[in-house]
Amino acid sequence: MRAEETDIFVSGGGIAGLVAALGLADAGLSVTLADPAPAPAEGGSDDLRSTAFLEPSRRHLEAMGIWHALRDAATPLEVLRVANCTGDPPRIDTERSFRAADLGIPALGWNLPNALTRRRLADMAESNPRIDLKFGVGFSSLVTRQNEAIVGLTDGSRLRARLAIAADGSASPLREAAGIGAETTRYGQKALAFAVSHPSPHNAASTELYRSGGAFVLVPLPDRNGAPASAAVWMHDGPESLRLAGLDDAALGEAATQRSCNVLGPLSPMSARQVWPVMAQRAHRFAGQRVAVIAEAAHVLPPIGAQGLNVSLSDVWCLLEVARDAPGELGTAMQLGTFARLRQRDVLARTMVIDFYNRLCRDGSPAAQVLRSAGLRLVGDWPPLRDRVMRAGLAG
Ligand SMILES: Cc1cc2nc3c(=O)[nH]c(=O)nc-3n(C[C@H](O)[C@H](O)[C@H](O)COP(=O)(O)OP(=O)(O)OC[C@H]3O[C@@H](n4cnc5c(N)ncnc54)[C@H](O)[C@@H]3O)c2cc1C
Repeated sequence: MRAEETDIFVSGGGIAGLVAALGLADAGLSVTLADPAPAPAEGGSDDLRSTAFLEPSRRHLEAMGIWHALRDAATPLEVLRVANCTGDPPRIDTERSFRAADLGIPALGWNLPNALTRRRLADMAESNPRIDLKFGVGFSSLVTRQNEAIVGLTDGSRLRARLAIAADGSASPLREAAGIGAETTRYGQKALAFAVSHPSPHNAASTELYRSGGAFVLVPLPDRNGAPASAAVWMHDGPESLRLAGLDDAALGEAATQRSCNVLGPLSPMSARQVWPVMAQRAHRFAGQRVAVIAEAAHVLPPIGAQGLNVSLSDVWCLLEVARDAPGELGTAMQLGTFARLRQRDVLARTMVIDFYNRLCRDGSPAAQVLRSAGLRLVGDWPPLRDRVMRAGLAG
């Protein structure tokens, strides 16, 4: 079978892969995207998993003409409330709020349901004449030469591309085929995600509470059935997370309410639950011959500070910038070298900070409690440091 030609092949139709495809097509390049999963559906009524897009990511999406398709479903996050808790049952020892208004921006971020985001991005890609979207077809093989990547797909077809992008998740088959390994740190923690309703309004504030085992996070969702609602992510040691995930709604609600120090009143679970291992992973290289590695194929971070997707999108912005700067150089060693150098540096710094933060936040010892409370007071009470930390967190 004769190989079809395309400027770019994207392996993986998650949020990062779809945004990359849209951005590169917008730059005038032809893109083929393949993903073995079925085309995304908007999700059932109990699929309330969501992801926060930080304000800089939103601005990029707006500049690319993508945000208008998402904004009606986005819940603004105007305040980040961080609390350190002590005791059993826990009570808040120290609490500080970090406001978008402190930085002169309307929101720190915007929370969007994952399924809806992917569906709408896929709709935009489907109607873009420069994008050939292949859901239900996966990447299967790779041969690279100096001038091209030859990609085999699971339907037996082949493509010749100037650049192949690995956006196919943490176990990335394309990254593996390019001979690029990854270094993984497992924390022995799991994250339990579910949606809750609660009597008190969230007032567009995201709440992070620390005690032991990891963060307990409540991120605003739109009201559900007339009641305020939030997405809960509860990090804990693996066995405890699995025990919590197995509780019935009443028992999980009671445990979550206690863990939340009752900040929004009694929490009532109202969605399916998802448990996933908390890990940090970094690819040894973010580029190979004719291959760029992005998003979770390049790096996985613990779910802290909404960094995961936003660092992934930063890979996309960087790739778009180097591709737009020199379209004739697409996929060359020099262009990919620039991309890899810029991204590896940023990701390494973020991985180190989040690793330290996660270790500190899961530690329930009295020394860690004191350190957390003191750190929170230091950052929260000194505006120059507060603003600097907030800007660094938003930079994604
Ligand atoms: C439960 C959960 C909650 C999260 N919450 C947040 C949050 O609040 N904020 C945040 O910033 N980040 C969050 N993250 C991280 C964030 O979701 C990811 O960083 C982001 O979605 C980017 O992922 P991705 O597109 O690289 O990978 P994925 O979304 O995993 O997409 C990879 C895609 O590759 C496809 N694929 C697999 N094999 C092949 C193949 N052979 N060929 C082609 N395609 C293939 C898969 O089908 C999949 O669609 C969360 C992650 C999880 C798991």
